[in-house]
Amino acid sequence: MSEKEQMLQFKCLSCGSDVGFSLFNLDEKMPIDCPDCKRKYLFSDQNLIRQVKKFAALCKQIRESEEILGHANIGIDVGEHHVKVPYKLLLSRLNSSLDLSIEGKTLSIQFRVEPTKLQSGASS
Ligand SMILES: [Zn+2]
Repeated sequence: MSEKEQMLQFKCLSCGSDVGFSLFNLDEKMPIDCPDCKRKYLFSDQNLIRQVKKFAALCKQIRESEEILGHANIGIDVGEHHVKVPYKLLLSRLNSSLDLSIEGKTLSIQFRVEPTKLQSGASS
């Protein structure tokens, strides 16, 4: 996955359409355009950019680790029973969105490739 690929998205504050962007937009300070209403977004807050980058790195890492994590289990004792929970199941429950406050509104940034979709092999 290249840096230019739009692996992140959020809902436009004006029209609600999905606006895709990549870390490249953040690094190059390129404005992000809403595909529908053409509203421009520019991430200039360094603190916010740092959070988005960390979030993207985490999602990417989980994606890359899935091959080995997919075969691992976590043992949990429930009462008298010992239950093995596959990591895959935990990954599929992972919330892959990051909520940020922008202009007083909550912007939920989502990682486009969700772990659940990867498991079914839908994206490759
Ligand atoms: Zn829009």
